[in-house]
Amino acid sequence: MQGNLNVQTENIFPVIKKFLYSDHEIFLRELISNAIDATQKLKALSSRGEFEGELGDLTVEVKIDKKKLIISDRGIGMTQEEIDKYINQIAFSGANDFLDKYKDVQENLIGHFGLGFYSAFMVADKVEIETKSWKDAPAMHWSCDGSPEFEMKEGKKKERGTDIILHIADDCKEFLEEHRILELLKKYCRFMPIAIRFGEESEWVDSETEFTEVDDGNGGKKKQPKRVEKKVPRIINDTDPAWKKAPSSLTDEDYKKFYHELYPMNFEDPLFQIHLNVDYPFNLTGILYFPKVRKTIDPNRNKIQLYCNQVFVTDSVEGVVPEYLMLLHGVLDSPDIPLNVSRSYLQSDSNVKKIAQHISKKVADKLEEMSKQKVEKKDADGNDVADAPTQLEEKWDDIKIFVEYGMLTEEKFCERAMKFALLKNTEGKYFKLDDYRDKIKALQTDKDKNVIYLYATDVDEQHAYIAKAKEKGYDVLLMDSVLNSHYINLLEQKIEKTRFVRVDGDTVEKLIAHDDNIPEKLSQEEKDKLKPIIENEVDKARFTVQLESMESDDQPMVITQNEFMRRYKEMSQTSGGGMGFYGEMPDSYNLVVNINHPLIEQVLKEQDAEKQKQLVHQLTDLALLSNGLLKGEALTQFIKRSVKMI
Ligand code: ADP
Repeated sequence: MQGNLNVQTENIFPVIKKFLYSDHEIFLRELISNAIDATQKLKALSSRGEFEGELGDLTVEVKIDKKKLIISDRGIGMTQEEIDKYINQIAFSGANDFLDKYKDVQENLIGHFGLGFYSAFMVADKVEIETKSWKDAPAMHWSCDGSPEFEMKEGKKKERGTDIILHIADDCKEFLEEHRILELLKKYCRFMPIAIRFGEESEWVDSETEFTEVDDGNGGKKKQPKRVEKKVPRIINDTDPAWKKAPSSLTDEDYKKFYHELYPMNFEDPLFQIHLNVDYPFNLTGILYFPKVRKTIDPNRNKIQLYCNQVFVTDSVEGVVPEYLMLLHGVLDSPDIPLNVSRSYLQSDSNVKKIAQHISKKVADKLEEMSKQKVEKKDADGNDVADAPTQLEEKWDDIKIFVEYGMLTEEKFCERAMKFALLKNTEGKYFKLDDYRDKIKALQTDKDKNVIYLYATDVDEQHAYIAKAKEKGYDVLLMDSVLNSHYINLLEQKIEKTRFVRVDGDTVEKLIAHDDNIPEKLSQEEKDKLKPIIENEVDKARFTVQLESMESDDQPMVITQNEFMRRYKEMSQTSGGGMGFYGEMPDSYNLVVNINHPLIEQVLKEQDAEKQKQLVHQLTDLALLSNGLLKGEALTQFIKRSVKMI
């Protein structure tokens, strides 16, 4: 029998070849998926008792034979009527409209129109089908050379199943190379649910016929089988991947093992994982792993992989996974994610929205649970250690960036996270947000009833300031994440009557303004005289001189940096644009002069102009030094001058 394919075929083949050219490797995924489907259908028929014959070896086989690539299965096969219905009459109305609309998303068109099989024409100039149905019907042979005509006749196939034979086109010879096919199989078919064989591989085994003699340890000899190379079928997939198993049947080790199976090039263990398993109102399985994230993040490594019934679809999951979780690793498998639409459409799809929300909720659940559970720690006698950290505390430094980013970008997650997010102080202790507020409330509430959270971003650089604050009985947080300035802003919005101030944001008296003013030792006249003396010695573009009444045993001079200006500058640097004005501003500081300090009094009283100048210089340098701002030439000069003075 000969016939015309019942489609606007003049259009299809150029469309297939051209529009989908960029992604033509997916033909293999499509054909193997069909083979797997046909096999699973047979298994289903068999388990329902409708098919009573032997299932036999159901392995799907991929073979390269000179200029042909052959995909064979032992599935249900097709009768003449089925070929007619499923292959010859392709529903393709409106396809051109669709193509016009979604030119940018060609990748996932295939499949949508039942064009899976026809994707073979992206790489072959002739395709043959040899098939024999599980039903009692003659074997069929179908062939088509890419023109609208096909040929169909009775075939010679003896065994149940289907062979798809691709005569690979001259410009697609890469698909006749073993390594290229292996690469594609590993990419798309690695976790398909029926074994797929491609060629052979070597295994080293004990020989049954060849032996060598070795020392037996007692001065004699004994026979030992020789290790010989044996060729075994190369099965390229794991048909039962961990994410399909019941979470209760898996140990932590199993999860780690699967992680390394997924990312063979990553040698670091994940921190922990979340196993997803939903079937209503949408179907979703998967495992999400939390990797260690420090300051450098490479979002292009070990990306989350998206599967549809164990068939690899893509590893760009934008839109499906909430943005802040894009840094996680692992797999998601769902038949309910539409694959044939643009990213923007994807984000508005209600199933996808629900899936994203579900994932976010599961992540929050897991983190909350970890915040309640203590790490198992035993003392020397085997008793539980009472102050063992919680699981979340133990992992916090490595995952805080997910949590902070999630809180900044997802309202709902933020609400949840306010209950478990942690703050860490400079002594390395962790606190939940509420607990921390309770801890500092008494001492760190200012005259306007704001609770002031003091923080440092670098314990070494800000050491002097931290020490000062602690002397006053204040607690100092360590906030050193890359998202800091944004995150702090968020916390100030979320927690009422709260201000964050970096320890060098002001003098210790003013960090937390209480009502008690320290009496000033200088008169207004003296202050007016003092200010220009000091201003003459500093770079006015960078430093603003401020006279303050501080304790007489405090430092004579202190450098501070306005919290607001500094934070906005940092924010504009990490958010790229929008706040350019702040980003371009030079760093500016306050040089705070303690007018109650005896040395400042001395400056004022000094009659010798040269000596006065030197004294001011020395004092400003000391202040710069304790802020880490005295460097290079200025530092060398300072040391020389100091030695001379001693
Ligand atoms: P889809 O798989 O999306 O339905 P395809 O064009 O890939 O579209 O296949 C069309 C139909 O042809 C399938 O639904 C199936 O009924 C039949 N078919 C394709 N390949 C095979 C095969 N290897 N064995 C049995 N039937 C097949």
